[in-house]
Amino acid sequence: MSAPRNTQPVIIAGGGIGGLAAALGLARKGFRSVVLEQASQFGEIGAGIQIAPNAWHALDALGVGQLVKKEAVFIEHLLMMDGVSGERIIDIPLDKRFAKRFGNPYAVTHRADIHGSLLDGCKALPELIELRTSSRVVGFSDQGSPVEVELADGARVAGCALVAADGGRSVIREKIVGDPLPPVTGHMCYRAVLNAGDVPKDLRWASATLWAAYNTHIVHYPLRGWKLFNLVATVIGKHTSGGHNELATPEEVLPFFSHYCDKPLTLMRTPREFRRWMLLFRQPVDNWTRGRVALLGDAAHFMLQYMAQGAAMAMEDAVCLGLCAERADGDFEKAFLDYQATRLARASRVQISANSLVGMIFHVPDGVERLVRNDIYRNRSAERYYDALEWLFTPPDYVRDFRKKPAPGRSPRPSARRKGASSARARRKGSPARAARPPRRRPARRKA
Ligand SMILES: Cc1cc2nc3c(=O)[nH]c(=O)nc-3n(C[C@H](O)[C@H](O)[C@H](O)COP(=O)(O)OP(=O)(O)OC[C@H]3O[C@@H](n4cnc5c(N)ncnc54)[C@H](O)[C@@H]3O)c2cc1C
Repeated sequence: MSAPRNTQPVIIAGGGIGGLAAALGLARKGFRSVVLEQASQFGEIGAGIQIAPNAWHALDALGVGQLVKKEAVFIEHLLMMDGVSGERIIDIPLDKRFAKRFGNPYAVTHRADIHGSLLDGCKALPELIELRTSSRVVGFSDQGSPVEVELADGARVAGCALVAADGGRSVIREKIVGDPLPPVTGHMCYRAVLNAGDVPKDLRWASATLWAAYNTHIVHYPLRGWKLFNLVATVIGKHTSGGHNELATPEEVLPFFSHYCDKPLTLMRTPREFRRWMLLFRQPVDNWTRGRVALLGDAAHFMLQYMAQGAAMAMEDAVCLGLCAERADGDFEKAFLDYQATRLARASRVQISANSLVGMIFHVPDGVERLVRNDIYRNRSAERYYDALEWLFTPPDYVRDFRKKPAPGRSPRPSARRKGASSARARRKGSPARAARPPRRRPARRKA
């Protein structure tokens, strides 16, 4: 192992998926960092997460893709069902064609498993990554050298640069972007993780399933070798609390879903309790960086979960950050400008799609709008869906090529912007082995 490229570490505020991924992205390019997490332990909440092919590419680039795959469930369909009539509207097969086209499969996993794999990846590099808990960042100064971060207990940490991966309510963002805390939006979700045995047998589907009806939707999928099921039910209304992870009873939740048909309702009646989350988001901004400070993940582009891409974007950010640090040879002011220019359009496109466009499809009112929505999507071929998802699921060049060693005499400079789909397709033809799927682990179950 050669010596780290930076004497003072990059300070990373926040040890969630984004912060740990950032530490790994930098470490893979030889840069040391210190991760400051406010909680007394590194960890994630008990819930599921969807991992699209672009997220797998980022995990592979960070060197933990295989670890995460060990616990993931490789589902077979992305489904959208009409919550009122029970009709299957969208069915995107996630078979070999899908994995071949996007170079990786689609899977679901427990948050603790993806976060735990990133943590293990960081722990395996102690000479490059220092992990500190009970370290809540309350402020920073970027005057002169070094960058200094102030912790809640009054301690100070010095570094060559600061990456804010402290989530959607980032304290560092306040000083960079200057926008207030995200307002309460009226979007709220109820989460539960169920034992597979408690899930109605005719809903144990090998898919990420979304039931859609006016101003609501319900998502469910299997977890942990089919032992658990993740359930997330979203409602748009006039909710005022800004809290999250609060206890909610079925009596509170079920009336919001009374317009659903029997099948999804049976599932909704299963949990004895839910956890309530107010869903917040921000509008895209184009100033993620100032001097030697940069925002990453939700701190940069906080979005609703409707595209299931927030963590994917945080991990892509992390890969890009490592590459930009390498390109700038450790000049972080330069690296952060490059990082922002490279990531801004893609992450903002996902953010805008998640915050406004996708919800319009899920949440249309009952009546003509619902019929029109169903008519638009019904009976589409797999290829049409794959074409529509090309921009999102195909990894950017800087993610795909992250681990490649530059040819002798050439600068490590893959194109900063996404090339067109046609060139991506041409490249794919020459990359045969990427479609390999790991063995599945699941008991017999009924198909959707
Ligand atoms: C219901 C729901 C479902 C979702 N499903 C998906 C999905 O299927 N796929 C997907 O890709 N994304 C999904 N997302 C989005 C995803 O969870 C987030 O985008 C992702 O977790 C963001 O990671 P992050 O590290 O940027 O922020 P966070 O996860 O918020 O992590 C921030 C970390 O920083 C710490 N921290 C905060 N403030 C400080 C401070 N001042 N000092 C030190 N530490 C601090 C926190 O304790 C935390 O550990 C979903 C989100 C929701 C709400």
